[in-house]
Amino acid sequence: MTPQRLAILDALLRPDRHPTADEIYTDVRRVSPTTSRATVYKTVETLKTLGELRELDLGLGRAHYDAVDPSAHPHVVCVRCGKVDDVRIKGFDRLLEEARRASDFVLESERLEFFGRCPACVALLSNPPLS
Ligand SMILES: [Zn+2]
Ligand SMILES: [Zn+2]
Repeated sequence: MTPQRLAILDALLRPDRHPTADEIYTDVRRVSPTTSRATVYKTVETLKTLGELRELDLGLGRAHYDAVDPSAHPHVVCVRCGKVDDVRIKGFDRLLEEARRASDFVLESERLEFFGRCPACVALLSNPPLS
């Protein structure tokens, strides 16, 4: 593990963080100001190949990254600001089991996303700032 890799994983492992590559870059620069954007992007690719993180395409036009979590989990995505949170649902493991049973495929991964508005965006809508 190089210090850059550690800094990137550190940025990812904070709970409920699903940063974009640019956000990872900003975080890594805080710890290690000389790291280049190219190094961060290359390291993100390497960690993806190694299976340490996974890329989430949430339909927002940019990739978000999630540290690989042994327990699969769905996400909630804010359609207004793009905030991504984990959502822990008891039935999700059962759903995966059932998908495995119901399909003759060898299933390798899964994704489930819910879309809506985060609390901050809901608050903003009910109390629009005075302009
Ligand atoms: Zn939002
Ligand atoms: Zn997640």
